[in-house]
Amino acid sequence: MGTVTNMSFQELAKSQTVIAKVIENSIVAQKVGHAYIFSGDYEPYLIETAQLFAKSLFCESPDGVEPCGSCRNCRRMDSGNLVDYMEVEPDGASIKKEQVQQLLSDLSLRGAEGDRQIYVIHQAHKMTPQAANSLLKFFEEPGVGKLAILVTTQPQLLLPTIRSRAQHLVFRPIDRERLVETLVADVQCTSDLARLALETYPKFEDAREALHNDWFVQAYGLVVQLVEVLTKRPQELLLFAQEKWLGHFKGRNELRVGLELFGNWLEQALHFKVRTDYVPELFTKEQALYTAFVKDRPVHKIVHAIESVHEAIRRLEANVNPQLTFERLTFDLQKG
Ligand SMILES: [Zn+2]
Repeated sequence: MGTVTNMSFQELAKSQTVIAKVIENSIVAQKVGHAYIFSGDYEPYLIETAQLFAKSLFCESPDGVEPCGSCRNCRRMDSGNLVDYMEVEPDGASIKKEQVQQLLSDLSLRGAEGDRQIYVIHQAHKMTPQAANSLLKFFEEPGVGKLAILVTTQPQLLLPTIRSRAQHLVFRPIDRERLVETLVADVQCTSDLARLALETYPKFEDAREALHNDWFVQAYGLVVQLVEVLTKRPQELLLFAQEKWLGHFKGRNELRVGLELFGNWLEQALHFKVRTDYVPELFTKEQALYTAFVKDRPVHKIVHAIESVHEAIRRLEANVNPQLTFERLTFDLQKG
């Protein structure tokens, strides 16, 4: 289990006023339910909130609802050594039945420490149906003091039976620029790259990992080169694809990233074309290239290029060979 961050209710209330109130009230009134779903667009924040909720319940001398941060339980939470607090994450692509069963058996063995047991399930929508059903059985007879917090960015993928047995707290969307700032400070990259990574990878952690990787920075450079070739020497597009592009974007997932990046460029270019005062928000250092790209290109051609990229992504998802997919795209781009 990772280290626990130290968010306070006061801090939570600044961006999630309603959520903070609901949790505070349930603690004060001693009406904490046995299962909650925390859903929102930014998982780390949901997990921090779950940890705060747990810490407040475990704390031996809270100030109102704020955990004291120094009692035995607070210190154990901070160091990840509180046995009655557990977090479960997907094992690979899913949360498997065995993981949930292990958790439930740990919960039944422990509990000698106090009268409370709390477990947090990360990316709960990744539970297999079998895992979710094991959890459901437990929901039906949860026992005193047990609290489950299911954290998810995609609550619609949870089984309806799970949703109907838990209290669902829907977090307000997180300010995108705050995430950009976090990444910039964390990875020491430009805000342009951070913004692109967040556009390309739906999960914050994946965006962070990509930014730590030279591969993503090089991908950025190749997209700029692709636009240059398309603008200045379109007849060399296929050669560029074979000599440079396909050597970097190998396989389905990598090519998909390349196409998403290129799609972002095209959408910015379209705004730039139709709104004279528009300042591109991505690839921000490439003003001159934006100007050259849109100069002799009518709006319908840019729209056609965007549609061709979407079509290429759909082909990739339908298992068409990545190389063929990209070569077909270069043909569509030249024709358009
Ligand atoms: Zn405490």
